[in-house]
This record gives sequence, structure tokens and C-alpha cells, in this order.
Amino acid sequence: MNRRSIMKLMTSAAATAAVAKKEAKAQETVARATRGMPSPKIRDIQVIACAPAGLRLIVVKVITDQPGLYGYGCATYTQRADLVVPAVEKYLKPLLVGRPADRIEDTWHMCYNSSYWRNGPVLNNAISGVDQALWDIKGRQCGVPVYQLLGGKCREAADCYGHASGGEIPELIENARSYMAKGFRHVRVQIGVGGMAGYGSRGAGNAKAESLHSDPVYEPAVYIRRTLKMFEACRKELGEEIELCHDVHERVTTTQALQFCKDVEQFKLFFFEDPFSPEDIAWFRLTRQQCATPIAMGELFNSPHEWSPLISERLIDYIRVHVSQAGGLSPCRKMAAVGEAFGVRTAWHGPGDVSPIGHAANVALDLVCWNFGIQEYSGFSDNTQEVFSNCPVLKNGYVYANEAPGWGIEVNEAAAKKFPFGAGDPGERGRLNGGWGVIRRRDGTVIKQ
Ligand SMILES: [Mg+2]
Repeated sequence: MNRRSIMKLMTSAAATAAVAKKEAKAQETVARATRGMPSPKIRDIQVIACAPAGLRLIVVKVITDQPGLYGYGCATYTQRADLVVPAVEKYLKPLLVGRPADRIEDTWHMCYNSSYWRNGPVLNNAISGVDQALWDIKGRQCGVPVYQLLGGKCREAADCYGHASGGEIPELIENARSYMAKGFRHVRVQIGVGGMAGYGSRGAGNAKAESLHSDPVYEPAVYIRRTLKMFEACRKELGEEIELCHDVHERVTTTQALQFCKDVEQFKLFFFEDPFSPEDIAWFRLTRQQCATPIAMGELFNSPHEWSPLISERLIDYIRVHVSQAGGLSPCRKMAAVGEAFGVRTAWHGPGDVSPIGHAANVALDLVCWNFGIQEYSGFSDNTQEVFSNCPVLKNGYVYANEAPGWGIEVNEAAAKKFPFGAGDPGERGRLNGGWGVIRRRDGTVIKQ
């Protein structure tokens, strides 16, 4: 072997060694990434209560034993917010401190079963606070948004509907047009009723309707007639392209609701929400047999006993559960999967009495569930964004995830203290500590709200 051949062989050997070293390093990186991260333990559970936009919000913070690793979950039950705080601090915290923070499903069932009596709104919201915080922690630990932990995106963003309303029809039409100008393809339309307490819209006129009492008045037949006129005007003025939603808010009698569902069929609504209350769900069967108006239902549901027959019998089109009310992301993810099997789509409740953490959970579900239908979205005030940074972003009628790990939202606890409960709520709801008051028919009968 001459000198030239020896040099060639040495170069080749060095190259082979370099490749081997590079491969070994790559394999080590993969092994490190897939080795399994150390299991964090729950060190503390705290409750953050604030009302930056007037509505009382409750957020649970779960802190782990790993430095800087914590998460937030929405536990907002705005009408009884103060009751959720001891449910978390006095019952869930002693149960969970010291346990692993990465066993989300197991933790959910521990919390759910430890009260023996279950499925109430206070306890479900408390569980949701912990559940969503654990998803946040897992996302932060893995360095990915929660939607990635749930299988990744089915769509780029979630189509939303805005709330258009007006005391009079021209005002409502103008308000709906302003949403359309911002890019919304779906609008919920609600009209005020003269002298009465309308839902989703201020009343029309100043004079209170004649009644036998001094509380706000509501008469279902008057509301129904006015709303049918509103739909006629909406289709005439806004055209056929815009998708219209409407919320009856379970305020009419069962027979009126059935008739109402049939009367609005001609307007080709995107959905007609809560024509019946949870106590009257048997009426959905009758409605389904008589008309094809798409029905949305579910924001008051706490329990699978309530929503499961409506989905499995295909009696509704959109499940509209309030995610924290049903116990958090974990049960709602399964609810959506059941819906997929029966052709029912999601429309998670998304008003102002959901915290930004809860909205982020809604968006995660919207992105990962194939049977997504629509997302209610109410936006975030400047005060709210001072407390909750990096909220989901609305653009052209779509809401987007913020793409940061976990929910990607930080809570400024010092800013939260600037907005205590009651600060922005000096009226009747302030006096009732966030509770809703009473609405009566002309004769004094209390109505469902
Ligand atoms: Mg509703």
C-alpha cells in the first residue's frame, strides 16, 4: 500500500467516525426528549377572584413542586361565585396537595367522586378549575399549546358569532351590519320588547309595561310576536347569506316553544337556542317530529344525564354546554366525541361570564373536534386584558389560539386585585352579590331566566 492509499483510508475512517458521533448525539437527543419528564406534584392550589369587566370571574391556580411550573383553570359561576372559592380551598385542595399533577383523568374522577353527591354547578366549576389548570401545566411542561395534547388542529381557527341587539328593529339591523362589516358570517339577533325585560337586548321605550308588581315584566306571547317580525326584517334587510342565531332563553311555555320552532323554520336559522328548559327536554322529541329548525341547547346542563339523551336520540343539532359548568375540558372533550357519533356539533357557551382561561379552553376544543359547529365569542375589555395577558385573538369573525404553551395566558394577580367583586356592579346585581334578580309576568308569576 502506497502513501496515497494510506491517506485515503485514514480520511475515510475519520469521516465514518464523525458520522457515527453525529448519529450518537442525535440519538441521545431523541432519547432525552422521549424519556418521560419528571412527574410534578401539586404543591398548592389558590383561587383568583376578580371582576375586571364587572362580571365575577373565578380562576384556579394549581402550583407544582417544580419551579415556575403552574397552571390556570376557569371555575367561573358568576351568579354564585363566592361559593366556588371554599369548594376549591376547603375540599379540593386538601384532597389534591401532594398528588401528581400529570394524572388529569385520575384527578378529575377523584374530585368528582369525593363529594359523593355530585353534578351541581358549584362543585363542577371547582373541578373545572383544577382540571383546566392541569391541562395548562401539561402543555407548559411539554412546551405545546393544549390543542396539541388533544390531537392537533382540525381547522385553522374557530368561526364565531357576535351578539347583535337593539331596542327597535332598525337599531338591531344596524348593529348586525356592523358585525358583518367586521367579517362575521354569523350573528345572534335579539330584539327588545316595549316596556319589558328582553333577553340579550335592552328593552324598547321607557314606560314599564302595566303589571301587578314592581319587578321587571316579561310576557312570552308579546316577545314571540315581536321576534317573528324581527326575523322578517332581518332576512329582508340583511339578505340570505348571513347566518342568524337566536336565544329564546327558555322563557316561553312549552307549547309556545313548539309553535315558535315551527314558525321560524321559514327563516332558515343557523340555530334556535334553548326553546325549552332542561326540565322540559322531553319536548325536543315532539319538536323534532314537526319541524327542521336547527336546535341548540345545553348551557345549563351539569350532568351527562341531561345531555346524553338529547345527543343519542339526535334531538338537537348543537351542544351548547358551559365547559366549566360541566366539570371542565376533560368531560367536554368526551361529550364532543359522543356528539360526533350522532351528528351533533359543538357550540360551547362563550359569554362574558367565562374567564379568558375558559375561552382558551373553548378554542382548544373548537380546534381539535371535527364536529365543531360555531363558537360564541364576546371579546375582552381592556381591564380584562390587563389581568389576563395573551387572550385568544379575534380576526375577521374567527377566533385563533395564541399558540403559546398550555393556554398561553398569564394572570397578573396584582392587576386582578384592582378589580374586586362588586367594583363594576353597583346596580341590582351588585346588591345581590352577582346573583340575578327576578322577572315576573304581568300577574306576578316568576319566569325562568
Ligand atoms: Mg344562551
